[in-house]
Amino acid sequence: MNKGGVFIVSGPSGSGKDTLLTELFKNHPEIKFSISTITRPMRAGEKEGEKYNFISRESFEQMIAEDYLLEYNSYIGNYYGTPKAPVIKAINEGCDIIIEVDVNGAASIREKLPQAVSIFIMPPSLKELKNRLSGRGTEPEEIINQRMQSALSEIKRATEYDYIVINDDIATAVNDIHSIISSERLKTERQKQIIDEVF
Ligand code: ADP
Ligand code: 5GP
Repeated sequence: MNKGGVFIVSGPSGSGKDTLLTELFKNHPEIKFSISTITRPMRAGEKEGEKYNFISRESFEQMIAEDYLLEYNSYIGNYYGTPKAPVIKAINEGCDIIIEVDVNGAASIREKLPQAVSIFIMPPSLKELKNRLSGRGTEPEEIINQRMQSALSEIKRATEYDYIVINDDIATAVNDIHSIISSERLKTERQKQIIDEVF
């Protein structure tokens, strides 16, 4: 059986990662999503186990000690981490999996899984990013400012990624992400077993 592909998706907070991935999964439920474990308080509208598992700092630190995480990072005072087991399971079962992480998490995953393909979601401008963060209405002004500061350093690291997708028009950006995943599936490296099957 072919191994599944690992796709890292990063981008500054408010660039539209959730919006684009939600749209992508509507038409492509076969693509798996890595549910992160985090210590940030739950936002209005978020549900336990949907995108995140919300846990205490003590439980998170225990997960670190037990080597349960593929990677983790601290972002504006909270821990965010990717559990290892579901990612390994998806790869072994031949399923494509998307891991949404910040730029530091992406660097750690590339070291451990060099076959991972990375995609950076870029806002059309900083002004639009600020509008989107404010318009989402989920964080107070002070946190929005911290997230804008973090966005500047994250955007500088976009060149570490294999692909940059500009999220201006949602449908175009979703199509771009899907094209990247589709072309990766067609690579010879992913399809070597077909030669034996044909013979
Ligand atoms: P992220 O997951 O990267 O933090 P979100 O998906 O939550 O970002 O998007 C931030 C805000 O911007 C949301 O209110 C969302 O509805 C809006 N948004 C996302 N993509 C676009 C777009 N292409 N045009 C206009 N608004 C958008
Ligand atoms: P938010 O609080 O807006 O949901 O996420 C904040 C940042 O954490 C975003 O850049 C998001 O991509 C990143 N993030 C989400 N899950 C993980 C994870 O498991 N590991 C790491 N390193 N970053 C994550």
